[in-house]
Amino acid sequence: MNLLSEIERVFPPRVISLLRRIGEIAEDRGQNVYLVGGVVRDIFLGVKNLDIDISIEGEGIEFARELARQLTGWVKAETRFGTAIVTFRGLPKVDVATCRREYYHSPGALPEVISSSIKNDLYRRDFTINAMAVKLNPARIGELVDFFGGRSDLKKGVVRSLHNRSFLDDPTRIFRAVRFAVRYNFCIETDTESLIKEATGRVIFDEITIERVRDELVHIFNEESVQQAIKKMAELHELKFIHPGIKLNPETETFLGELEEVISWFQSSFPGEKIKKWLSYFIALLDELTIDEAKITLKRFHFSEKQTKEAVRMKKSASGRLAALGRKESKPSEIYRQLRGLSVELLLFLMAKARGTARQRILLYLTKLRHVRLTISGEDLRKAGLSPGPEFATILNNMLLTKLDGCLETREDELIYVNSYLKEQRLKLSKLV
Ligand code: ATP
Repeated sequence: MNLLSEIERVFPPRVISLLRRIGEIAEDRGQNVYLVGGVVRDIFLGVKNLDIDISIEGEGIEFARELARQLTGWVKAETRFGTAIVTFRGLPKVDVATCRREYYHSPGALPEVISSSIKNDLYRRDFTINAMAVKLNPARIGELVDFFGGRSDLKKGVVRSLHNRSFLDDPTRIFRAVRFAVRYNFCIETDTESLIKEATGRVIFDEITIERVRDELVHIFNEESVQQAIKKMAELHELKFIHPGIKLNPETETFLGELEEVISWFQSSFPGEKIKKWLSYFIALLDELTIDEAKITLKRFHFSEKQTKEAVRMKKSASGRLAALGRKESKPSEIYRQLRGLSVELLLFLMAKARGTARQRILLYLTKLRHVRLTISGEDLRKAGLSPGPEFATILNNMLLTKLDGCLETREDELIYVNSYLKEQRLKLSKLV
């Protein structure tokens, strides 16, 4: 089967020229070169994907250097793995791998590499749908290489592992299976699902592998249907790898559904604002844990100190904040005081927990209050006769709260506020003297 016309449909002309050049350079060097992995899967699915991964039989790093030399790019090589990344101006980067067979020191650890052929390279991949290649050498450009039935599994909508040891060789694949199944609305093939369940009973993620687990969780929680993915993870006993105390019950499911709604509202309302959606989900999963359990989990998954502190503070304060936000009479400045300083990810988490008035108020904060700024600055305060110091922050803060309540509409109003503050201060001072 030849995929050249599909490739020409999916990629822009400059990328097609790049692929052709890759094939020509490899041919001149007497090497076979292939486009591999997710990008081939996505060519079949008609999905735009510019992650250009290529595998080359023979010397990979030397090839990458030649590619960079001929097309004016930069190479970052990883000699231990025989891989390189070539970056260009105005073109997608190219990930070059030397076709390889891998030997695993221990389950989950990074593999040791020896040179081998494309069949072995594809055999070490996670699922049949990700284990296809397209030849790029000029005479056979576009030719599909599909040893393991990837194309047929794509047609059937099946995620299937390549062999029985797959999840023991690399347990992070148990998460990847969920990612692809949920993303494409595919089924995990029955035997593969049994292998996952067997692996979840046996594997342990240590310090080295936890980083890769974290990466996989970030990918899953950034997907479109996270609620569905978490449901699948629960079904396959995968949530225990985050923390054994995490259980999916009807309440958590409803909560995750609320979170999904709130996040998609935010993303469509503020398309220019990039958020770490995965962070809101991660914190949501820790909701039922104790504070100590949550702390341990955040630390284990290498969350930054700031993120951990924020998440723990939120855990401690969520119900108090929601109660305060739900009070009948609440001025905008009070809403602001409850929510200021929280990251959008935490605000969305809180909004998903909130009901009625409290939710409306978080919405008001996100859409309006958090954007309110004073028109005057420290410079204006100085001009008005105030000397810089802690007083600056206090007066600016008080002014902002007053402005939020609608009492300072124009720049003149703000200047009048400063002047009357100064008068008051002078009056107090003169009384003291
Ligand atoms: P996405 O569209 O989410 O980026 P992808 O398939 O490109 O999907 P990557 O994580 O970028 O996913 O991996 C690229 C390719 O590398 C995969 O298609 C697969 O062939 C291979 N791969 C990645 N991770 C593993 C793994 N843990 N085990 C085996 N093969 C893997």
